[in-house]
Amino acid sequence: MLDKLSATCQADDCDRRLRERDRMLVYRTESGERRAYECVCGAVTVTVHR
Ligand SMILES: [Zn+2]
Repeated sequence: MLDKLSATCQADDCDRRLRERDRMLVYRTESGERRAYECVCGAVTVTVHR
C-alpha cells in the first residue's frame, strides 16, 4: 500500500506518477478509502486515503 503523497506505479522499471484521471477503481472500507489505479503499463497500484 502507498500513501497518497507518493502514488507512483509499483511495477519494476516504471516510476510513472498515478493521476486521478487514470483508470481507477474506488473501494470504501471501514478503515478508509482505497483506490486501485491501472497504469498504462498494465500494473495495478492500490493507495489508501483516510
Ligand atoms: Zn506503470
